[in-house]
Amino acid sequence: MSKFSPGVPYSRKNPFPARLLVNTRLNGEGSEKETRHYEFSLSGSGLQYEVGDSMGIHPRNNPRLVQDLLEALKFSGDEQVKNKESETFSIREGLLRHYEITQPSKQFLEAIVERSRAATELRELMHPERKKELDQYLWGLEVIDFLLDAPSVRFSPDEFVSKLRKLQPRLYSVASSLRAFPEQVHFMVASVRYESHGRKREGVASIYLADRTDENTRIPMFVHVAKGFHLPEDPDKPIIMVGPGTGVAPFRAYLQERRALGATGKNWLFFGEQRSRCDYFYRNEFEAFQREGILTRLDTAFSRDQAYKVYVQHRLLENAREVYAWLQEGAHFYVCGDAARMAKDVDVALHQIVEKEGASSPEAAAAYIEALKKEKRYKRDIY
Ligand code: NAP
Repeated sequence: MSKFSPGVPYSRKNPFPARLLVNTRLNGEGSEKETRHYEFSLSGSGLQYEVGDSMGIHPRNNPRLVQDLLEALKFSGDEQVKNKESETFSIREGLLRHYEITQPSKQFLEAIVERSRAATELRELMHPERKKELDQYLWGLEVIDFLLDAPSVRFSPDEFVSKLRKLQPRLYSVASSLRAFPEQVHFMVASVRYESHGRKREGVASIYLADRTDENTRIPMFVHVAKGFHLPEDPDKPIIMVGPGTGVAPFRAYLQERRALGATGKNWLFFGEQRSRCDYFYRNEFEAFQREGILTRLDTAFSRDQAYKVYVQHRLLENAREVYAWLQEGAHFYVCGDAARMAKDVDVALHQIVEKEGASSPEAAAAYIEALKKEKRYKRDIY
């Protein structure tokens, strides 16, 4: 459980209560997305991060969802519960601050199966060999759904919280440099809102930040060092940055840092989003970096500006010769953003580029890219 201990250096165990300075939506009118820019004050914390690092943020659950759970469980909210560390608090406080109340844990599902005759489908899917089907079944289902579906199931307050996981901090890539913004940290966060099984759902941390924080909120945070995702030690080395969507966050920080350091290495950014009109995040800043000569090249891929999809990997392939020339000059290649599809497709494109421009075979291209990784020149922060 995180408590503030003034006098002790701030850390993961003793997170700093940071004050929110700015919360703005980055998308313009007509966008299908909600991506937000946040600025926090780290004043007085002594916290130091490097560009490329992330910060861990301790969110709180939605009080409306907590109330729905309490009603489904027939609790007033004042019942006292004890956690594994023998700390005592009301169940309402526990559900707001200390436990994961959206995604059901295995222990919770097992308790439902034990106590409810109706949960036959779930019972069958709980066999280890049906893990994939269980995951599919659970998509879009939360703890509240199981309680509402089995109103006869009873838990004591202590029993109920013992079935929940601890609420974990969420990591967000730092989008600012301390050299450009001393004692501040900036983030960009995609707000997760959707509907499933007839209920409105939301991402725990992204919507806590978006909807339930103001200048009076103190948000506990700590630095999470990303060892494999820092700028090259040599400021003369060129860098290629591939960051569609929220993946551009660390690259805004890199550019601020390189400007502040007077680094002479060339910088090339590939940015992608849906529409140039409303989803071109930090456009003014990137264009200013370009005018100043910090951003040597800026290539954008707006996927929904035309009838067919254009993604960052298409821009990489269009510029294959030059990308390869930069790699031959010792460039470091960075990728940040979606792990499920984008990072894989960018990896395929990189292999194609090396194979075509290095006039080599697929095997030789793979060996070239393996060597890049060994030299720590191919770095990814994907999620
Ligand atoms: P994002 O969804 O990654 O989208 C940014 C841009 O990347 C859009 O123009 C998108 O185009 C494009 N894109 C889609 N597929 C791509 C691919 N295979 N290769 C390259 N570019 C591709 O942006 P985000 O707002 O940063 O997403 C935030 C978070 O949500 C990320 O963690 C992402 O992994 C996650 N996410 C999850 C799901 C999901 O279904 N679980 C879906 C989307 C995002 P189009 O949108 O026009 O295809």
